[in-house]
Amino acid sequence: MSSLLLSVDLEDVRDWVKDGARYREGVPENTRNYLEQFKRWGVRATFFVVGEVARRYPWLIKEIVEAGHELACHGDIHLQLDKLTPKGFRADMQRNLAALENAGGKGIEGFRAPTFSLTARTAWAHEVLADLGFTYSSSVLPAVNPLYGWPKFGKDARKVAGGLWELPVTLHGIPGLSVPIAGGVYFRVLPFFLTRWAIGKNLGKGQPVITYFHPYDIDCKQERFMHPDLGDKKYLNMLMYIGRDKVLKRLDILHRSFPFQAYKEYVNYLQAGASGPTS
Ligand SMILES: [Zn+2]
Repeated sequence: MSSLLLSVDLEDVRDWVKDGARYREGVPENTRNYLEQFKRWGVRATFFVVGEVARRYPWLIKEIVEAGHELACHGDIHLQLDKLTPKGFRADMQRNLAALENAGGKGIEGFRAPTFSLTARTAWAHEVLADLGFTYSSSVLPAVNPLYGWPKFGKDARKVAGGLWELPVTLHGIPGLSVPIAGGVYFRVLPFFLTRWAIGKNLGKGQPVITYFHPYDIDCKQERFMHPDLGDKKYLNMLMYIGRDKVLKRLDILHRSFPFQAYKEYVNYLQAGASGPTS
């Protein structure tokens, strides 16, 4: 069963900017916009939620749950894994889980590392997750990348420590274009015909397409400010704002051609039938 695995990484970019609270609040409005569209399309998604966001907007988390979507973890305060020790990561996950559960989340089994920061150096995170009862992670960017990447992981979903499934983000895989097919900036900036072709190609081979979107990806009203994780590069910062009006329109077109699914449904399918290679 191959589908496009639909996900929103629920985070508040204002938290990473100095005096971020002076900027317009965007998370509730943009999340509701996603929820409205998902309802219209009749699709279920996974929301990877930062603990801090759940504490700030517990009512929003409740709306996500009531709409039938899946909740999963995205770090308590969106710390990249190389900034944590195994012990610190465990505590961070426990806070993240508590924040989601306090907001009405139940049966949380999934995790996505902030900035896809799970690499060969932080592979210990898989063990911690398995130990805490998680069944899957979607945290690896299986390519060379200026920020994080684990090219040797391979592009396929497979079992890792403790029977946990890792679902690496799906890449174009064309020489010179080892970037995600349907995620954030790449989905907004790359030509849509290419995105559509790559999704069809993966699904045609029976492989799922792992995606990620953020509240800011559809926020056309957000003020311009430098995003701190871009190292003061104005060109990259400009890309943060391009094509935001296209995201929901493009997803609308895609859902007419391809099946969409939440992560947990796909992981259930893997667990039921497949016994992937272990490492
Ligand atoms: Zn994130």
